[in-house]
Amino acid sequence: MNQVIVIGGGAAGMMAAITAARNGAQVAILEKNNRIGKKILATGNGRCNYTNRFASVEDYNHPDFVGIGLALFGADESINFFQELGIEPKEEEEGKCYPMSEQASSIVDVFLYELDRLSIPVHTEVQVLTIQKKSNRFLVKTNKGEFTSDQLILATGGKALPASGSDGSGYAYAMSLGHSIRNVYPSINKLKLNSPHLKHLSGVKIKSSAILYVNEEPIQIEEDDILFTAVGISGPTILQLSREATLAYEAGKHVEIGIKLLPTMLIKEVVSRLKNFEDKTIEQALIGLVNKRFIGPLVKDAGLPSIHTLVSSLSKREKEDLINLLFDWRFEVSGYLGFEEAQATIGGVSIPEINPLTMESNLVPGLYFAGEVMDVDGRCGGYNLQWAWTSGYLAGLSSAIAEKNV
Ligand SMILES: Cc1cc2nc3c(=O)[nH]c(=O)nc-3n(C[C@H](O)[C@H](O)[C@H](O)COP(=O)(O)OP(=O)(O)OC[C@H]3O[C@@H](n4cnc5c(N)ncnc54)[C@H](O)[C@@H]3O)c2cc1C
Repeated sequence: MNQVIVIGGGAAGMMAAITAARNGAQVAILEKNNRIGKKILATGNGRCNYTNRFASVEDYNHPDFVGIGLALFGADESINFFQELGIEPKEEEEGKCYPMSEQASSIVDVFLYELDRLSIPVHTEVQVLTIQKKSNRFLVKTNKGEFTSDQLILATGGKALPASGSDGSGYAYAMSLGHSIRNVYPSINKLKLNSPHLKHLSGVKIKSSAILYVNEEPIQIEEDDILFTAVGISGPTILQLSREATLAYEAGKHVEIGIKLLPTMLIKEVVSRLKNFEDKTIEQALIGLVNKRFIGPLVKDAGLPSIHTLVSSLSKREKEDLINLLFDWRFEVSGYLGFEEAQATIGGVSIPEINPLTMESNLVPGLYFAGEVMDVDGRCGGYNLQWAWTSGYLAGLSSAIAEKNV
């Protein structure tokens, strides 16, 4: 029987522990919080979007690395796993799956039942001080004594929402065992904008598309809700763009978000509307077309005299400028909010140092990784938890069936 220690009782750690125990290992979880699964409670706005039925390699930053795992334990396997534990899936738009109960706590509850059924000890409020490998055994020194094992799974998460426990401390353990860490940044996060209109626009929400421009090149387009905030912009559309925006901003590139205010209209329809409304002011011509709070900022950014200017007095060029803004209103990205506001982590334990089939370290036999601690991140929509289940399953299985005395 292999003895397996799992450090980190989050999504990936719990999946790893259960899988290892089901495959005959003697498992223990070491968790620094006073309870496990804390971050899961915050996921999916408290409903936990626990997988995406269409999850594929393209939804991740390292498609080649995640491919084997997703083929072995992908969305279908996750849905089955949770269904067997009692979670009925409720599929919503674009394949997003939630528990039928609409409570993220249901996911934590069924994990707790299963950990209990398998008699897996969970040691909470454990501060790991050092991890060493001695004579083919791992020695974990903590504030609550020493733990030893044949295999060790590091599932300490990334740095997103540090209040949930994942504060990046796992990176130091990985480094102490010889691994390298790819630079970490927040992902699925809100962006800061350089715009004088934010105070006025804060709270305005639209459903539309946005394009991410990097050095004037369009590189990504997304469509969903967009929300203006006091410091910038948020909403699912922006969260999906935030990864590439953050990396481009960090690389010192010129980053802009282009917002299409009229997702269902053609330019020629707006041209003809302005023609029909020549006798109206700009404000009157735009009322009923866009949120009223956009009108003043649009007029300013188009360089037009005033919202009270008659449409008939606009030059052809001025009308074109206004119409261009309605279809591609550019906002310069001036930064991004930090890990406190982020849902995922870019970077982590370097992927070439990990076996994609087993999640075992290529450097330290018997050491495994699971979840966000690795340099793997996915899109918003159930993909990151799916990676926690996939990698947790692989690490748990491989550690349980691994040959001893490696
Ligand atoms: C607000 C929010 C909403 C999200 N919503 C979704 C969603 O709906 N769908 C989705 O797919 N993804 C979502 N995510 C992302 C998803 O929650 C994570 O990708 C996932 O939880 C990662 O799992 P993990 O087990 O690797 O890390 P975590 O869940 O972060 O767990 C790591 C665990 O390790 C513990 N730990 C850390 N350091 C130590 C240490 N030194 N010693 C002992 N224990 C330690 C932590 O306390 C924690 O319990 C969301 C994230 C956030 C922040």
